[in-house]
Amino acid sequence: ALVEANYGKEDKVLVSIRIRPTESTSAWQAADTIPKTIKLDQQCAKSSATPPQEFRFDEILTGSENKPVYNAVARSHVCAAMDGYNAVIFAYGQTASGKTFTLTGDEDQPGIIPRAMKDVFGYIRRTPTREYLLRCSYLEIYNETIHDLLAPPTSSVSQPVQIQGTGSNIVLTPLREEVVTSLKSVREVLHRGEGNRRTASTDWNERSSRSHSVFRVVIESRERGSTDDSNTPSGRTTPGFRPPTPGGPRLQAKGDRSVQTSVLSLIDLAGSEKATSDKERTREGKYINTSLLTLGTVIGTLAENSAKNKNDHVPFRNSKLTRMLQPSLSGDARISVICTINPTTQAIGESTSTLLFAQRIK
Ligand code: ADP
Ligand code: MG
Repeated sequence: ALVEANYGKEDKVLVSIRIRPTESTSAWQAADTIPKTIKLDQQCAKSSATPPQEFRFDEILTGSENKPVYNAVARSHVCAAMDGYNAVIFAYGQTASGKTFTLTGDEDQPGIIPRAMKDVFGYIRRTPTREYLLRCSYLEIYNETIHDLLAPPTSSVSQPVQIQGTGSNIVLTPLREEVVTSLKSVREVLHRGEGNRRTASTDWNERSSRSHSVFRVVIESRERGSTDDSNTPSGRTTPGFRPPTPGGPRLQAKGDRSVQTSVLSLIDLAGSEKATSDKERTREGKYINTSLLTLGTVIGTLAENSAKNKNDHVPFRNSKLTRMLQPSLSGDARISVICTINPTTQAIGESTSTLLFAQRIK
């Protein structure tokens, strides 16, 4: 059961590689038939870069099934978030390597986001002693500007989201947060955000590969009183839920029943490929490289600090993404980075940089 998932024993940062199948063969075969590209040996991937390099990761995943991926690299993080820890799951990789397939998936193979939300609601149903309030937000970081995907496109263009505060007291404003009480309402929120994202971009493919998209759920909970004094009208909401109150729903502490708050962030990163044209080499490419580079440094330093009990400076402030995530990455937060790889010969250069990125943060 989800509740029993043992996240406590794992490292702060879980780093996995997911190798997508190519058109004709399964990923294992593909990897075997191109021995000079990436060699797989259980937990160890080798590339043809000279001198030969060997990379080790927590998980190496192949195939088109999203369920084993969720179970291996996301489930315990979702569980941790329900237990009050902040958790962040990233998909990193070049365009078309399977980031969106892994996080969002499709109807046949739902990805991490729908599976996570299903588990969240399952957890709530199995925990009748607590009441929960879930608030979702959905945003995009493009050229170091944060856009609220749940605001109407026109207003999100005119009013970018600002990061206020420092350290673990970061506030994003103005940012819409939608209270969700069922999987259906989550789907509506995601659908609306996706629609706004498409509307805001003249070239959807270009835009989605150049921007980070961040889906966040703020999870608040508190113990129920012996007499249930919350004003939940029965039948209207999922059991265990408090209905949204107008003007900013928040759970309030009551007596000795304090409110536990955590954030689950699910992030589809911009394509990690190097700039291929002059245009990209200028503004956009620079922003992407800087923010992915900063992300690598931040996660790498956090992992190192945690493993070696050190306190090295973490450069959260060097990019909007890491600055915004600072409260969610610090302390006892749990992080999972899934690095996606397209095992074709043409992509060998990019696959090698992805492996190097993964190795750097491990
Ligand atoms: P990215 O988001 O990294 O740009 P996508 O997730 O959009 O890449 O994947 C590109 C294409 O490859 C999509 O059509 C997607 O369905 C498919 N794809 C990616 N990974 C897999 C996989 N593991 N199994 C089957 N199809 C995949
Ligand atoms: Mg994508």
